[in-house]
Amino acid sequence: MSKQLQAVRGMNDILPQETPYWRLLEDTARRIFAAYGFDEIRLPIVEKTELFKRTIGEVTDIVEKEMYTFADRNGDSLTLRPEGTAGCVRGCIENGLTHNQIQRLWYQGPMFRHERPQKGRYRQFHQLGVECFGLAGPDIDAELIMMTARLWRDLGLHGLTLQLNTLGSAAARVAYRDKLVAYLQAHHEQLDEDSQRRLHSNPLRILDSKNPAMQTLLAAAPSLVDHLDEASQHDFGELCRLLRAAGIDYEVNPRLVRGLDYYNKTVFEWVTDRLGAQGTVCAGGRFDGLVEQLGGRDTPALGFAMGLERLVALLMDQGEREPDSAPHVYLVMAGAGTLEAGLLLAEQLRDADARLRIRSNCGGGSFKAQFKRADKSGARFALILGEAEVGQRSVSIKHLRDPDFEQQTVAWDELGHFLLQHLNLH
Ligand code: ATP
Ligand code: MG
Repeated sequence: MSKQLQAVRGMNDILPQETPYWRLLEDTARRIFAAYGFDEIRLPIVEKTELFKRTIGEVTDIVEKEMYTFADRNGDSLTLRPEGTAGCVRGCIENGLTHNQIQRLWYQGPMFRHERPQKGRYRQFHQLGVECFGLAGPDIDAELIMMTARLWRDLGLHGLTLQLNTLGSAAARVAYRDKLVAYLQAHHEQLDEDSQRRLHSNPLRILDSKNPAMQTLLAAAPSLVDHLDEASQHDFGELCRLLRAAGIDYEVNPRLVRGLDYYNKTVFEWVTDRLGAQGTVCAGGRFDGLVEQLGGRDTPALGFAMGLERLVALLMDQGEREPDSAPHVYLVMAGAGTLEAGLLLAEQLRDADARLRIRSNCGGGSFKAQFKRADKSGARFALILGEAEVGQRSVSIKHLRDPDFEQQTVAWDELGHFLLQHLNLH
């Protein structure tokens, strides 16, 4: 036997018993995005490395150490996308979608980050994301958050908390940044290695540090809230007011800064305590400067991304899955001439109603072996086609879940009607 090959570490197969939870999540999200007037955009998985360096920021975890970057055959440096926003902004500018237009877009797909694989953290993972262009908020900020709240409601997910902050305008951030750097510099000896490195390149990110040894220092740091420009303060107040009016609870977390460089004003995260350390299931905020930074016109923008693996873990934990997708009917066929008749009959049933899920027995086998497969398939009914039935243009029907249901014979012509009625598909 030759050596068995394995998947790349941190890149998972999503197996048939898991896909019903994924479908429930994806179908519900798609329906809700449409209900809020969002259109889908599909973007490449590979982009030029430069794009991520320029948008996410050189001194971020993602760009410093997590990107899957490689030279293609021409020697161009390409990267498997670590997130969706950069590509979406690039695609919108390139196709003129942000030019004097409002866009409400969503996307979905795999993202790649070379992180240490652990529960809730993988090297290929999946996001559903939303981006809006041309709206300055805070009305749209509130509506985006209301849309996510509706998604949790419709999925039956409980116990998610909304954390909210505002990073202020770019100018306010610069002013605050100077104060923060001065404070941290005065306590230089208490900074860990990461923070020392970030002190001048990305000091706000230090606030996000999870290092327990630095928490006292950070708790006493000057707070961004005290340095906000008036417009940001006003918008944040409005956002909070709109959320309260919508009955959405939130916690203001002044230390929420997000790990990427491009955010300003509103930032938010939905977190749960049910997934251990990897508790953020949805994260987003404003990135008003990004379109211009990538060569477009000055365009306000905001968005969020959800981590699907983490949401699926919550759904599985609660047992929330797509309604049953097992076959309705398993078709048992044995004897001369039964295969042709059976395959044709199954086609006619599918013609009669596209919702009918029929699994025909392929691969032959005795009646006994076929009934075993029928049971295992989860089907409600077994249709039995032997030579006698073919002769009479009928099938025998056995209920596989209800022992009180008496086996009966139904003519081919009446079979569609019979099944729809007994499966409550009318
Ligand atoms: P974290 O703090 O968990 O590292 P992040 O700030 O790097 O998250 P974002 O870039 O904002 O994450 O991505 C949005 C969401 O995507 C996260 O909230 C999370 O649910 C999910 N996510 C991010 N990285 C991973 C990963 N490596 N594996 C699985 N899900 C992930
Ligand atoms: Mg991360």
